[in-house]
Amino acid sequence: MKFAGIIHLEQNGRIVFPTGLRQSLNILPGDSLELFIDSGCIHIRRYTPTCILCGEINDITPYKGRNICFECLAEIQNIWPMQEHKIAL
Ligand SMILES: [Zn+2]
Repeated sequence: MKFAGIIHLEQNGRIVFPTGLRQSLNILPGDSLELFIDSGCIHIRRYTPTCILCGEINDITPYKGRNICFECLAEIQNIWPMQEHKIAL
């Protein structure tokens, strides 16, 4: 892990990343970042939607608030075809 500088917490709880750091990481206003806590350390990384099942980052679609890739979705549909789960009325 590489030291990237010191930032200060503002009174309202916001932090501002130095311009040079944002530019070097190509972080733009409005981008989402993920926070992780590990043994008292905070790790921050760019948020990239990933499939909750396989970790794929391409062809992601949200489903009920979670992300799933088309390949996993197709596998699920093959294993568990929707027609078998229709409830008879
Ligand atoms: Zn997947």
